[in-house]
Amino acid sequence: MMNINIEDGIERSIKHLADPRVQSSIKIQSTIRQSLRDSLVRRGFMEISPTLLSPLTDPLNHPVYDPCITVYGEKMWLTKSMIFHKQIAVQQLKKIFIMSPNIRLETEEKASSGRHLFEFTQIDIEELDASREVMMDLAEVMINEALAGVRSANGAELAFLSRACRPFPRPFNKIAFQDAVANYGEKFEERISKEATAPVWIVDIPLKAREFYDREYPDRPGILRDMDLLWPEGYQEALSGGEREFQYEKIMERIRKKEQAEEQFRWFTELAKRGIRMSSGFGIGIERFTRYVCGLEHVGLTNPFPKIPGTVSL
Ligand code: AMP
Ligand code: MG
Repeated sequence: MMNINIEDGIERSIKHLADPRVQSSIKIQSTIRQSLRDSLVRRGFMEISPTLLSPLTDPLNHPVYDPCITVYGEKMWLTKSMIFHKQIAVQQLKKIFIMSPNIRLETEEKASSGRHLFEFTQIDIEELDASREVMMDLAEVMINEALAGVRSANGAELAFLSRACRPFPRPFNKIAFQDAVANYGEKFEERISKEATAPVWIVDIPLKAREFYDREYPDRPGILRDMDLLWPEGYQEALSGGEREFQYEKIMERIRKKEQAEEQFRWFTELAKRGIRMSSGFGIGIERFTRYVCGLEHVGLTNPFPKIPGTVSL
C-alpha cells in the first residue's frame, strides 16, 4: 500500500493551485502554447496526435527509472519522447508537430535542479528533407513570436512576476560543444546560461553526449549534426534537436557504439532497412519555456499538478 499521506498531499495541491505565481505562469503558458502552435501551423506544419504507449521509445542519454508495462503479453513503454514516431510519421506527412506528454521517471536528486518534472510536455517538431539550420531558424522565430505574444497578452502577469519578456536579436549566438567544454569546463551549460542575456546555441554535440539517432557529419566521425538551445539567466536547456540518421547501416553501427540492445529498437531499425529519408527536428519543453519567461525558481510552478522527481502527488 501507499506510504504517502493523502491529506497532506491534497493540502499541498490546494495551496499550489492558489499560489498567484502558479496562476500567473499557467496563464502565460496558455499564451505560449497557443503562440507556438500558431507559428507552426502558419508555416505549414500539421499537428498530430500524441502516442502515449509503445514498444518503442527514446533510450535517452541519462538514467531514469523505466516503467515498462505488459500489454497483451508484450512489453510497452510510456513515452519518453516521440523521436522515432515523428521520424517515421514525417516520411509521409512531411511537416509535423505534437504537443507530446512525456513520462520520464527522473532520479530523486533531480527534484532540486529546478528543471525536472517526471511528467512534462514538449512540442516535438519534425520536417522531412530539412537541414539542422532550417530547424534552428524555425526555433528562433517561434520563440520570438511566443515572447512577443506573451508581452502583448500577459502584461498584468509579467508585471506581477517582474519580468520583461522581449524578443531577442537574431540569429542567436552559437558555440560548438568542443569550444564550450574548452572554455567553460564540464559544467559549461550552467556557466554559459548564467552569463548569457539571450539564448545560446550549443552545436556539434558528440555521440558520447547524445543518443544514437542524430546524424553524424559525413567527414567528422563521432560529431553530430545536432544542437541544444540554452535559455539565458541560468535557466539552462530549452530544447534539443538535430538532423536524424536515416541509413540503416549507420543506425546499427551507432546502436552498437552506444552499447544498446539492438532488439529494443527493431520496430524502428526494420523500418529503416526498407529505406527512409533524412529529417530534422527538435523538442522544446513547454514547462521550462514558461519557467524562463516567468523567472521562477522551479519548473513545478508552471504546472497545476507538478510531478516532482521522488514524490507521488495528484
Ligand atoms: P530531450 O529530448 O531530452 O532534450 O528533451 C526535450 C526537451 O524537453 C528538453 O530540451 C527540455 O526542454 C524538456 N525536458 C526534458 N526533460 C525534462 C524534464 N524532466 N522535465 C521538464 N522538461 C524536460
Ligand atoms: Mg536535451
